[in-house]
Amino acid sequence: MSRKVTDKAVGNQPVRHSRIIIVGSGFSGLGLAIRLSQQGRDDYLVLERGHDVGGTWRDNTYPGAACDVPSQLYSYSFALNPEWSRSFSKQPEIQRYIQGVADKYNVRDKHVFDCDMTGARWNAETARWEIQSSQGAFTADILISAVGALCEPNLPDIKGINDFQGEIFHSARWDHDSDLSGKRVAVIGTGASAIQIVPAIASKVAHLDVYQRTAPWLLPRADRPYLGVEKLVFKHVPGVQALSRAAIYAARETQVVGLAKFPPAMKILETIARAKLAIEVRDPALRKKVTPNFRIGCKRMLISNEYYPAISRDNVDVVTDGIKEIRANSVVTADGVEREVDAIIVATGFHVTDSPAYETISGRDGRTLAELFDEIGQQGYKGSAIHNYPNMFFMLGPNVGLGHTSMVYMIESQINYIADAVATVDRLGLRTVEVRKDVQDEYNVELQRKLEGAVWNTGGCASWYLDKHGNNTTLWPDFTFRFRSLLEKFDASAYETTSDQPTAAAV
Ligand code: NAP
Repeated sequence: MSRKVTDKAVGNQPVRHSRIIIVGSGFSGLGLAIRLSQQGRDDYLVLERGHDVGGTWRDNTYPGAACDVPSQLYSYSFALNPEWSRSFSKQPEIQRYIQGVADKYNVRDKHVFDCDMTGARWNAETARWEIQSSQGAFTADILISAVGALCEPNLPDIKGINDFQGEIFHSARWDHDSDLSGKRVAVIGTGASAIQIVPAIASKVAHLDVYQRTAPWLLPRADRPYLGVEKLVFKHVPGVQALSRAAIYAARETQVVGLAKFPPAMKILETIARAKLAIEVRDPALRKKVTPNFRIGCKRMLISNEYYPAISRDNVDVVTDGIKEIRANSVVTADGVEREVDAIIVATGFHVTDSPAYETISGRDGRTLAELFDEIGQQGYKGSAIHNYPNMFFMLGPNVGLGHTSMVYMIESQINYIADAVATVDRLGLRTVEVRKDVQDEYNVELQRKLEGAVWNTGGCASWYLDKHGNNTTLWPDFTFRFRSLLEKFDASAYETTSDQPTAAAV
């Protein structure tokens, strides 16, 4: 830990140097920061573009926002919370939990808030990352991207959308000054966000049009408030909460069999979903409209007990004709029908495989991540490193995503790996560390081989899991405990290294 956080002036421009810079303080960046602090380090900074920790849970404040994974599991293993009010927590409670963890582990003063990284360039001569941000220049020996995959709203390219005169906002940028009561509202999209927004607003708007491009599969949501006695037991009886967490983990992990190994097994869940649809949507015409035409699991499976009742209301229409254009006060569909609206909620997801952040990071050969991914697709090694980007690690990089269980489990696996990587770099006195191309290529061939038969690739749907090359570069194709064991220790032999110390060697 030789080089610490320092300020120095270059010309008139002060440049802050830190041994390690983490970009982003959602679940992943914050968790890594805590681990670095626990290792006794204070030579790191977290650059966070928002005004607080929390990432996607800070940003997604739309009505009805809640997690699809039970909180017992969707929380850090080192910071269990016996006070969860219900089995599937809502966004405000999750955000309060994240804030509380940041306070408890005392890492807020390692953050630079309202600091938007606008560029990062590898300087081979100095072996440092040169970072530009809304708060000036930084340099770092090791750069860690923890910007997340669900942070850049994807705005649909619909003719006339910019000319709409009413209120219009993305689900992840909810306008809380807007009062939708008594208004005619359109929701574009029927993904995880939309199916929570629709029931939350349906009863207060005058009329709601839900623009559905693809009908999603819905499963029941086993959500309930925790009893006081349960919370007491979680708090005071050792091991009970950990046991509850383990049981949820094991139950969820069984889905991997159908999702990744043997898709016909998904028939079991499809039968449950079809029964739910038949019970909750009584109108045959509506039921036909919202019946999916692909194998369950191909797109993210959604859970809700309120969506079907909401779209069955008299003041809600599901519109399945594609949107042709948006005019000053209306939405026009391909069949020529024009529907007047006062407000449009754009729930069309995020830039996942084409994040704008990729355009700002230039590696060893000067190429940006966007240029590299445009050519070969999102490829990395263990979701944590990318060839051509020395001394850089990624939280939630390529093929780390999941559709069935807690991302916090994957995040903690990566924390183990990256924290060990940083410790190894120090221990061996390494100047640079970059994953070998042959190792990365081999890793990706194996990943794609595993994905070939998975439901995401074979289930007959189009989804953001697949990139423009048709490769699934977002999801982990196996049991998550295999990811955990793969990332248990940093494998320096998979990396090309250079050293300040002539005797240092890779382990
Ligand atoms: P999403 O899953 O990507 O869904 C976007 C929706 O918008 C889809 O229905 C999509 O239709 C539609 N759409 C996209 N572009 C369109 C266009 N040009 N015209 C019409 N429709 C269009 O986005 P999301 O709902 O925000 O969810 C994103 C991810 O966030 C989820 O997969 C999940 O990982 C996470 N999330 C989790 C929760 C939770 O835990 N409860 C809640 C919200 C979000 P197609 O299906 O045809 O593409």
